[in-house]
Amino acid sequence: MEEKAKQTFYVTTPIYYVNDVPHIGHAYTTIIADAMARYQRLKGNKVFFLTGTDEHGQKIEKSAAEKGLSPQELADRVVVRFKDLWQKLNISYDYFIRTTEKFHEQGVQKIFKILLDKGDIYKGSYQGWYCISEENFLSEDIPLEAEGYKICPDCGRKAVLLEEESYFFRLSAYQQALLDFYQSHPRFVRPPGRMNEVISFVRQGLKDLSITRTSVKWGIPVPGDPKHTIYVWFDALHNYVTAIGYDWNPEHFATFWPADVHLIGKDILRFHAIFWPAFLMAAGFELPATVFSHGWWLKDEAKMSKSKGNVLDPYFILNKVGADALRYFLLREIPIGQDGNFSHQGFVHRINSDLANDLGNLVQRTLTMAVNYFDGLLPAVTEEYEIDLELTRQFDETKNKVYDLYNDYALNRALEEIWFFLNAVNKYLADNEPWKLAGQAEKRDRLARVLYQALCSIRGASYLLYPVMPETAEKIWNLLGEERKPSTIMTSQLNFYDFQPVNKISRAKAIFPRIDLAEFTGDTNKSIEQTQPAIKMETKESKMEYITYEEFKKMDLRVAKVIAAERVEGTKKLLKLQIDLGTEQRQIIAGVAETYSPEDLLNKEFIIIANLQPAVIRGIESQGMLLAAEVDGLAIIPFFDRDIPPGTKVK
Ligand SMILES: [Zn+2]
Repeated sequence: MEEKAKQTFYVTTPIYYVNDVPHIGHAYTTIIADAMARYQRLKGNKVFFLTGTDEHGQKIEKSAAEKGLSPQELADRVVVRFKDLWQKLNISYDYFIRTTEKFHEQGVQKIFKILLDKGDIYKGSYQGWYCISEENFLSEDIPLEAEGYKICPDCGRKAVLLEEESYFFRLSAYQQALLDFYQSHPRFVRPPGRMNEVISFVRQGLKDLSITRTSVKWGIPVPGDPKHTIYVWFDALHNYVTAIGYDWNPEHFATFWPADVHLIGKDILRFHAIFWPAFLMAAGFELPATVFSHGWWLKDEAKMSKSKGNVLDPYFILNKVGADALRYFLLREIPIGQDGNFSHQGFVHRINSDLANDLGNLVQRTLTMAVNYFDGLLPAVTEEYEIDLELTRQFDETKNKVYDLYNDYALNRALEEIWFFLNAVNKYLADNEPWKLAGQAEKRDRLARVLYQALCSIRGASYLLYPVMPETAEKIWNLLGEERKPSTIMTSQLNFYDFQPVNKISRAKAIFPRIDLAEFTGDTNKSIEQTQPAIKMETKESKMEYITYEEFKKMDLRVAKVIAAERVEGTKKLLKLQIDLGTEQRQIIAGVAETYSPEDLLNKEFIIIANLQPAVIRGIESQGMLLAAEVDGLAIIPFFDRDIPPGTKVK
């Protein structure tokens, strides 16, 4: 980055696979990129912020077929959902690329041809384990079974060893060049732990990479040999160059390439830190400055995944607390490289203590005093005490630290520094007690000064917050009577005393109302439905709907043993049960209290659906559902006729 010393900044998110709907992980990556982009714009840099969707490949072909759609139709539908979420989260991307766009396909084919002519791509034959039912090669990471074959992870069937014609990228030829590059660019991969992982992987030796398939139809055809399609990873990675004009706008391309930072999840580190720079070297491109690998958001300490059914829906949180609170939480809670744990309790605490209290209260109190004591128009301030100058100095120090931290992508640390400062402002008010000064006519000047210092602080702190909380910063500036928006002031132009006392200050309502855990999580119909204990009997009129064995197999039924039980206060029907599942303990809320007392169930064993999406009822999380028959409105639990180890699978 130093060698560029440039006025531009190019940041990318991964392009998201359209066989998935947007979840909190997508939101996290994209929010990080957005905060980086907004900060760089404040610095006066010309920014290009790219996101988009990865639309080719076997998995998309397959999930489209399952839904009775063409792959393009599936992609079109999912893209709308991503774009809608980005709009609600105030994501300021400059372009949303779709890999089915013509210019991208042409760009990829052109690069493929260049590498082919150069000899870095050659035709050979690929041998791998192939699933006949799904018509695809298994990932090479899957281990051999003891009997000497591989099992398809998707369908559980035995795979066969198959050979097909394939084009290869000569990755082996780039091993030393990559190692040299890592050595001279130790911050190419961040955080440093990931850099070490990459280096040790490359040192073990690189094999050439099969980059085409004949079994996949939904992809970019190999130029001059259309029975092959280009493997989705080779296709997808090149979005970073095609989107900014490679092969169609050389001037724009030269302005932004190489990228400053590719943000990625750690699962795709190898593709971005090894394959991608090798492809770029082969094609003669400069290499990006940084590949920044972020961690996972865990839900109550477990990795979120579709198969576990514990994926957090960002819309649910957005509708409850708004974009800025979610943006703040995700960026504040953890440094970019680490895993974070999302719990509703943690989230609610963070919002209430940092946003409602430290920030929201400060703004509301100060503005209210300015309106009550001076009708929203402070007089010009005169006197100045050491304690005032101290606050000003603290702001200047904070500002410089925060800029450095933003420059280094340490977003959580930047927010931490802003909060240290907000606490200092709160302390300044407590020490100077403007509410007492207000009662003394001779202290009028002093009162104005104290409020002026606090208002300057609020203006400055909300400017520093702007990259992470753009809506809030604008709202606060607006309340301060600022006619400009924070985004129009460059970082180098921000001064503490720029706040004009003649601005007409408005009375502020609570900027971030406190949220209540129960209210926040417990009132959707969906959650309540999921905690219904009884599986409804088929009525005579209802048609029997068959499910396939595959669908049944998706249910993870387990034997659970009750280790603690109590009533949920204020309810007639609900029991809170702590259960032992052999490998873990969980809590479930069951609507069986009209049939069983807590004592009845202690040490009893029954069947639960272990992979049901967790639900929250009455503010309490329920991680699973027990099976029961419903007879005259009473839930009757089927028990076993002997003791069984907890966690045993039921089929
Ligand atoms: Zn299979």
